Amino acid sequence: MSYNLEQVVHEAAILLRNSKFTTAFTGAGISVESGIPPFRGEEGLWNKYDPRYLEIGFFLAQPEESWKVIKQIFYDFFGEATPNSAHLMLAKMEREGMLHRIITQNIDNLHQEAGSTQVYEFHGNSMKLVCLACFRKSPYREISLEELPPRCPDCQGLLKPDFVFFGEPIPQKPMIAAYDAAGKSDVFLIIGSTGEVMPANQIPPMAKQNGAKIIEINPQESNYTNGITDIFLKGKAGELTSLLGEILFSTPLQND
Ligand code: NAD
Repeated sequence: MSYNLEQVVHEAAILLRNSKFTTAFTGAGISVESGIPPFRGEEGLWNKYDPRYLEIGFFLAQPEESWKVIKQIFYDFFGEATPNSAHLMLAKMEREGMLHRIITQNIDNLHQEAGSTQVYEFHGNSMKLVCLACFRKSPYREISLEELPPRCPDCQGLLKPDFVFFGEPIPQKPMIAAYDAAGKSDVFLIIGSTGEVMPANQIPPMAKQNGAKIIEINPQESNYTNGITDIFLKGKAGELTSLLGEILFSTPLQND
């Protein structure tokens, strides 16, 4: 059977319009059009950097070495990124009552900057640094990264980005929100995730098991595509969410 993008976008829009509870599950791919590279794939950060710098054991043993890489990846060029049309479309869908929760694996704060309010960050957020001695959290912009590793302004303890390193547990609040969403969503909209990172990758299959329809946006097939995805929208997040939005916000929809 041939793949007709317009047709599948239309089918996805109908599912979204008829859904009582919709969750977006986003990964690094949604921020690529904001200029932030993903971890995996041809342009991925792991082709340039060694992932062990983001292992908690390595960080605690050699914070200066870890921080040099962290600064380059997350603070030198992450900091200038702004939301793209995909982040903005999800925020609009929330305002229009068509999106009820975002579970994101991203740590770039772009969903919140786009105006989304129901955002649960599975892997924390890079905007704050946490002191490993007194646990005070400081906005990263208030901390000088001239000398590494940075130190707590209060107690001189070691500062760590407030996101989840490899080997660290997932914070409880987003974990509970993700399980809850997987239990009650009619539609799960996966955008830009390979589905390789555990335990986050277990959330969409749980939603599917509980009866959710899975819509996926990605320029390439992921671990989800041939397993749980019901409607695959092949393409970039910005372009596909705009197409979806055009149909979603035009009334009435055929077969609605
Ligand atoms: P990933 O890096 O493993 O994969 C990125 C996915 O995005 C791929 O499937 C790729 O095909 C797709 N993609 C590439 N360009 C796209 C586009 N324009 N539109 C839509 N999709 C596109 O990403 P992951 O599954 O999220 O797992 C990586 C982990 O890395 C996550 O845990 C996340 O915390 C972290 N990460 C976050 C950021 C960020 O905050 N922006 C950036 C890099 C990595």
